[in-house]
Amino acid sequence: MRYQGREVDVEGRVRLVMESALTARDRVGVQDFVLLENYNSEAAFIENLRRRFGEGLIYTYIGSVLVSVNPYKELEIYSKQQMERYRGVSFYEISPHIYALSDTAYRAMRTERKDQCIMISGESGAGKTEASKKILLYYAVTCPINAHMATLGDRLLQSNPVLEAFGNAKTFRNDNSSRFGKYMGVQFDFRGAPVGGHILNYLLEKSRVVHQNHGERNFHIFYQLLDGGDDNLLTTLALQRNPQNYSYLVKGNCPRLSSVSDKNNWKVVMKALSVIGFAEEEVQKLLSIIAGVLHLGNTQFGEGEEGETCITTETHATNVAKLLGVDVSALGEALTHKKLTAKGEEMITPLNFEQAMSARDALAKAVYGRTFTWLVEKINQSVALQEEIYHSGKGCSVIGLLDIYGFEVLQHNSFEQFCINYCNEKLQQLFIELTLRSEQEEYEAEGIAWETVQYFDNKIICDLIEEKHKGIISTLDEECLRPGETCDASFLEKLEDTLGGHPHFVTHKLANGKTRKAMGREEFRLLHYAGEVNYNVNGFLDKNNDLLNRNLKEVMCQSHNQIVSYCFRREEVMDQKRPEMAATQFKNNLMKLMEILGSKEPSYVRCLKPNDAKQPGRFDEVLIRHQVKYLGLMENLRVRRAGFAYRRRFEAFLQRYKPLCPETWPNWHGRLADGVSTLVNHLGYKAEEYKLGRSKIFIRFPKTLFTTEDALQA
Ligand code: ATP
Ligand code: MG
Repeated sequence: MRYQGREVDVEGRVRLVMESALTARDRVGVQDFVLLENYNSEAAFIENLRRRFGEGLIYTYIGSVLVSVNPYKELEIYSKQQMERYRGVSFYEISPHIYALSDTAYRAMRTERKDQCIMISGESGAGKTEASKKILLYYAVTCPINAHMATLGDRLLQSNPVLEAFGNAKTFRNDNSSRFGKYMGVQFDFRGAPVGGHILNYLLEKSRVVHQNHGERNFHIFYQLLDGGDDNLLTTLALQRNPQNYSYLVKGNCPRLSSVSDKNNWKVVMKALSVIGFAEEEVQKLLSIIAGVLHLGNTQFGEGEEGETCITTETHATNVAKLLGVDVSALGEALTHKKLTAKGEEMITPLNFEQAMSARDALAKAVYGRTFTWLVEKINQSVALQEEIYHSGKGCSVIGLLDIYGFEVLQHNSFEQFCINYCNEKLQQLFIELTLRSEQEEYEAEGIAWETVQYFDNKIICDLIEEKHKGIISTLDEECLRPGETCDASFLEKLEDTLGGHPHFVTHKLANGKTRKAMGREEFRLLHYAGEVNYNVNGFLDKNNDLLNRNLKEVMCQSHNQIVSYCFRREEVMDQKRPEMAATQFKNNLMKLMEILGSKEPSYVRCLKPNDAKQPGRFDEVLIRHQVKYLGLMENLRVRRAGFAYRRRFEAFLQRYKPLCPETWPNWHGRLADGVSTLVNHLGYKAEEYKLGRSKIFIRFPKTLFTTEDALQA
């Protein structure tokens, strides 16, 4: 037996090679948490992670869930040779890896013809996007190619740099933070070749376009354009090279990044756009919009002769109009006035200085946000499944990849964190449902009696948020629509009226009329499945309303820039019905996502961030403990361990342990089940320690197995 360098070669889920099993286990920990002796102990869980991380082993399983710790350095475990190692090899026969998970999902799709989904979660900077890219690359490299769609893999891969340029930014926690959620479904033909793809995007953080916190940046594309665009291009767009000249780029006081080269990435993005199939003219229009947003940010207001609000920076306004393809005077008018329809009559009222500023910012956010959606749609057209393949009658299967924000608890939590954490509640609900379902199915298939699992059902929290009429989202919508004076404070009052006393909802008001000291008067607290979070209601109404004055929409839908006029449809202006509000829109999108995911066989990747300094080799236990809690990993483990820690097919079990029993050694010639039965009787397994199913042995405690393993090593 060999111990191969830093890699522990493992056969089965427990076999640790070369040194005695025990010493290796001491040193590198167990590669599957279900084999932890004390599976209820968070300390043991973290210790196991720490040991493995110390040995450069970033991956560990909880059954079929892959836990990954960001190494913050390039590891030599992602090469083509490594891909080959994992291809077609059973999940547990080799050390845990993102490729093992990718390959298992792929094979399940091929052999069982079942759609798969891989859900990746974790907090910002934990490595979700990197993981999703590795999975996609694994498929692009290892899957066969369909001759009709030879370049599809490339186009799917190239969608990443494009979406990252427009949807990622440097934040305090991650230099390349995805500011949107993403689901990508990859379709495979009957031979297992990728033939199509589809991307769904969620809740882009549009507020970043107009404001960034200290040390953070706007979306990468702005800096890439200024740094990488050639002189001619910048002249056409009336741009200067220095980002400091643009008020939308200086809020965070962080124009450059040491870890990324905007100039190089610019080239990558331009190349990617052309691979995906964007025409040169389209790219021009797209960049005009980006430049238009920058000029919009520099458009300032002042007071005219009669005290009215007017634009004081004509050049920028002219540039905005030119770049967005709209009439300059109509734009100026729409930025400083508001059109209202009351009782069938149109009224135009002037805006004051602050209102004009926020109308301008609202326009910038709307233009950018809608352009992002357009971009996703364009990519979707490029990677869309071709009809003739779809209708070839041989069927396609899908592997979905979900790279979506994990639970977020910041110092100040607002509307965005509320939506993100709501999303995580839904995913947790799905996780429990699917895990229990698959456990139950396996027990049934094996003819073993199902044992009820105790777990916390977070439906109560989902209902609290999404229930019609009295849930938080409904209440928020009502407050936004209610005529008269409504504000964030009145929203909070409404919540207190309808939800006061709910076991998962808390405000500063105590039932006895007194005040809870630890909470602000503008806050409500939700007791999420993963822990408590306080939300400050300031800005909830505005963010949910996400309003753009109608006259601004009117101007935009007349644009000569086809992307702009596509994004602002005439019907929207004509239609008097109010569009769905942000939270409801998000809720409806989530419902659809749950349907998509729920119809597939799931696998999970749970990403952890080892330290806040983005440094290799540092394992901050406090930080890890926090994430283990918010990712619900102990609950994962509990559900998975509720019945049996370990299960293995008869032939594999017999093959491995047959030397321990004279009747099974060197070969067992009877029925496999009888062989296993003879073997475990000889080993002295007690009845409560194991069960024999139709094709597998189920062992309840890891200890039983370790004892057997140690006997083998002795
Ligand atoms: P966010 O929610 O902010 O988008 P994320 O979970 O998507 O965060 P990533 O962008 O995937 O985080 O990872 C952050 C950084 O960590 C990467 O830019 C990279 O430097 C490093 N990193 C993540 N995973 C790996 C890995 N497997 N190997 C090497 N470096 C990694
Ligand atoms: Mg990301």
